[in-house]
Amino acid sequence: MYRDILDAIKNGKLPTVDENSFAGPVAKEYFQMKGVKMSKRVSLIAGNWKMNKTVEESVELVNDLKQKLSDGSVASDREVLVCPPFTSLVVVKEIVKNSVIKLGAQNMYFEKSGAYTGEISALMLKNAGVEYVIIGHSERRQYFGETDESVNKKMKVAFENSIIPIVCVGETLQQREKNEAFSVIEKQVKVGVAGLSAEQSKKLVIAYEPVWAIGTGKTATPQQAEEVHAFIRKIYTEMYGKDAAESIRILYGGSVKPDNVSEIMRQPDIDGALVGGASLKADDFIKLVRY
Ligand code: PEP
Repeated sequence: MYRDILDAIKNGKLPTVDENSFAGPVAKEYFQMKGVKMSKRVSLIAGNWKMNKTVEESVELVNDLKQKLSDGSVASDREVLVCPPFTSLVVVKEIVKNSVIKLGAQNMYFEKSGAYTGEISALMLKNAGVEYVIIGHSERRQYFGETDESVNKKMKVAFENSIIPIVCVGETLQQREKNEAFSVIEKQVKVGVAGLSAEQSKKLVIAYEPVWAIGTGKTATPQQAEEVHAFIRKIYTEMYGKDAAESIRILYGGSVKPDNVSEIMRQPDIDGALVGGASLKADDFIKLVRY
């Protein structure tokens, strides 16, 4: 831990520090003075490949990532996740075995099995080696009719199958311009992530993705993002208590790139990134992982 922190500081990076793991208040004050983020949470950098990459292209990308990340340079305070299309899950799982890279899916259905042509169940994902699943991405809400209610059902079924859901929330540009961003997000959280057990409520991941920032090159300013992340944590505290709210990771998503990631990750309530475009090139994604 000390080594990670010292190395990060030497390399001009800002490590995330577990304040319980070492010298208490003095260290805390010192790191705060230096602008180092104090957090008990392990950051999660997740790549959402969306509807990109054939099996061959997936193999090439993940082999490249694995090879470049195999030098022990991923700090112990962060997790790396890739979410390929369904067709590539099994083959990618084989490659990421015994590496720092974890496997996620981009969607699932809430029914167990049966006549639901074109859908994938949580059990099928688990069986393919998936540890995380993205639920309620704004593209699913916009093009495929996902609602807070379906998000909620999917989230519960993911947990029942020991898959950690990454539930996406976020306002459209129109909603932000009409000053509705906070009420929209409040509803998405209150309905979308309701009904968890105490244990599940500490494991959930939420991703705040302003719709106007996804794939557009526009990013929320770190301050705009932090304001919403703190708001989500406040609502979550009301729903599940302080312990759970302090445990969960809240990721930011929306045109995260190598040149804006450090500033975003420095915010106290931002615990990682959900990345689309920049996760499709190994070199860019690696820069994000090493923010
Ligand atoms: C996303 O797919 O969730 C996303 C944030 O995409 P991008 O990084 O391309 O904006």
